[in-house]
Amino acid sequence: MPDPLTLAELEDIESRHVLRNYARLPVAVASGADVWLHTVDGRRVLDLLCGLGVTSLGHAHPAVTMAIQEQAGRLLHTSNLVHLEGPTRLAERLATSSLGGGVLFQNSGAEANEAAIKLARRHRRGGEIVSLHKGFHGRTYGALSATPQEAKQEPFAPLVGGFRAVPPTPEAIDAAVGAGTAAVLLETIQGESGVLPIPHEVLRAARAACDAHGALLIVDEVQSGMGRTGDLWSYAASGVVPDAITVAKALANGLPIGALVTGPHLLDVLQPGDHGSTFAGNPLVCAAALAVLDVIEAPGFLERVSEAGARLREGLEALPDVASVRGRGLMLAAELTPEAVERHDTTAALAGRLITEHDVWVNAPTPSALRLLPPLTIGDGQIDEGVARIAAGLTGR
Ligand SMILES: *Cc1c(COP(=O)(O)O)cnc(C)c1O
Repeated sequence: MPDPLTLAELEDIESRHVLRNYARLPVAVASGADVWLHTVDGRRVLDLLCGLGVTSLGHAHPAVTMAIQEQAGRLLHTSNLVHLEGPTRLAERLATSSLGGGVLFQNSGAEANEAAIKLARRHRRGGEIVSLHKGFHGRTYGALSATPQEAKQEPFAPLVGGFRAVPPTPEAIDAAVGAGTAAVLLETIQGESGVLPIPHEVLRAARAACDAHGALLIVDEVQSGMGRTGDLWSYAASGVVPDAITVAKALANGLPIGALVTGPHLLDVLQPGDHGSTFAGNPLVCAAALAVLDVIEAPGFLERVSEAGARLREGLEALPDVASVRGRGLMLAAELTPEAVERHDTTAALAGRLITEHDVWVNAPTPSALRLLPPLTIGDGQIDEGVARIAAGLTGR
């Protein structure tokens, strides 16, 4: 094997041949194992971000690796023109663990939301999609149109018509939803905007408004689902049952997959030819997802996520530079004190130093918060180690 490329060599090639779309950290990763990432220059980084909530079982989880290897040697792809056991079993498990209806596979979170938007429009024969301020649903045009954030939308206008954004209050939702509403699309905890929990009363108001007007309530579980909050699906904590959910990120622990999951009353809305995707539901990604579900649905697993989340929360709350901690389970944000933000120039710069100098990876979704999406399998000792490394970074200047 040739020597791996160094960070400097990677940066040089990228400067000439990779579009500037991503601002990368000065870190080059060679491999990963469990909660650790191994850099090309031999450092071990504690990964408390999981590739943005994706590798929730940690890196190179043996059950997932084995499922992928086994399936890779058998069949990678056929298209959706034939029956396949793995994707069918996965659809059954996703549906029976949530809303009990049907599944349409996609390849990403944004695509799962595109499918949900098409389902809602087909169901109502048109109609408006209502989303919440600070919501995030993806970067493709439909999903972006439901993502009311100026910096993300403005450079790419004109967007898709028929979308409306409202503040996350019962009154605003009541006022916006009517006979012309196809769906309300929302997250239970707004991850990309800084782990902002939506109050349960807002979810209840959205449910009531949708019921009153025949609109669909669609919960985007792309980041909050798959056990991240300590429930398999985050909507469960609110007692509100949506008409459909969208799932992606952690579903296959790193392979690209997305899914729209509906209640039984929506099984017949989409008809052959309405929507499609060449790769969606391919047997390789579905084999990985089945292995992930086996782990997450094992007895005691989700209780442990809640326990680990409580320990991490307490550890962060005890840090003098942390004003408060929000979120649920292992989907958390630590809001820093204004003095701490000031001392570190920017919270993004702090997050940068945490990975480059203290070997712990978190990110800064807002100018004053650190977000943590650690592996759901993280141990108590690793949680304490993570808090200690963050503490060292915070007191480091
Ligand atoms: C990440 C995310 C998406 C977009 O998923 P992609 O796979 O990046 O397209 C959509 N909704 C939520 C809530 C997300 O966190």
